[in-house]
Amino acid sequence: MLERGAMKPAPFEYVVARSAGDVVAALADGRARVLAGGQSLVLEMNYRIARPERLVDINRVPAFASLDVDGDAVRVGPLVRHRVFETDAVPGPLGVLLRRVVRNIAHPPIRARGTMLGSCAYAHPAAEWPAVAVTLGARFDLLSAAGIRTVAAADFFTGPFTTVRRPEELLLAVHLPKMPPGTLVGFVEHRRTHASFAGLAAMVAVTVTGGRVRAAHVGLVNAADRPVRAGTAEEVLTDRPLDDATVADAAAAAADLDADAYQRHAVGVLVRRALHQARDGG
Ligand SMILES: Cc1cc2nc3c(=O)[nH]c(=O)nc-3n(C[C@H](O)[C@H](O)[C@H](O)COP(=O)(O)OP(=O)(O)OC[C@H]3O[C@@H](n4cnc5c(N)ncnc54)[C@H](O)[C@@H]3O)c2cc1C
Repeated sequence: MLERGAMKPAPFEYVVARSAGDVVAALADGRARVLAGGQSLVLEMNYRIARPERLVDINRVPAFASLDVDGDAVRVGPLVRHRVFETDAVPGPLGVLLRRVVRNIAHPPIRARGTMLGSCAYAHPAAEWPAVAVTLGARFDLLSAAGIRTVAAADFFTGPFTTVRRPEELLLAVHLPKMPPGTLVGFVEHRRTHASFAGLAAMVAVTVTGGRVRAAHVGLVNAADRPVRAGTAEEVLTDRPLDDATVADAAAAAADLDADAYQRHAVGVLVRRALHQARDGG
């Protein structure tokens, strides 16, 4: 419960982890919280929305900052900050999409500290990275004393601020699948102020060969209590040329997912704009 006027955290034990083993040991009794970038957790603790008994600071585990771009998927560790995705660290169309997305996350000081995995663990319904993970069909690795278990992003998010992660598990990595060269990507977001969370956003990744869409990913941010993958819009796009009629049909299919009339209109507009951005650049 929020205590009015409370601006400092309740007492807690502070553990500085130096290795993955330290983290697992400190999380084992299920009464601790991981401290990554602290951009959401510290705020919650100061307002006493969160009162962890123990805080496990993972910032001194160098291996956690690893970003591996060599395989079929890009593996992102728990200390990879948002700002890394502003650079060309990730090659190809996936890198282009991540660069388009990241500039919509908060503002530079928060992007310098906050992490992609912290955002996924936090599971804010309006956060961008969870929607990227779901839309691209990513998978998560979760580490505990029992070893590593892997969960598809589609099964990871269960509601606002809730995931299938158990309290004794560290979110160890997300694997974001790479997309074929030439895949066209778009991301369009509506938000009230420069640094606020998304009111609503749409992302697309469309692979076109021989004049037809061969693969399509369409996802929505903050259209529901968890990230939404717009499967019907993806079906509409597949095997058709990416012309204005196809774009309009896909936008309408995505909009149909939403029950609310205003939001339906907004989803349609954002999906259409994201597809135009992908196709025409900009
Ligand atoms: C003013 C403001 C504006 C913001 N705007 C946006 C925005 O537009 N879009 C957006 O997406 N976010 C936004 N954020 C949130 C920001 O992106 C945070 O960085 C992010 O939500 C959490 O990442 P973090 O690394 O700071 O996690 P922390 O704050 O350290 O942790 C958040 C939660 O996740 C848990 N956690 C963190 N890492 C792990 C892990 N590896 N394994 C298990 N549990 C873990 C923590 O225990 C805690 O419960 C905003 C924040 C602020 C303050």
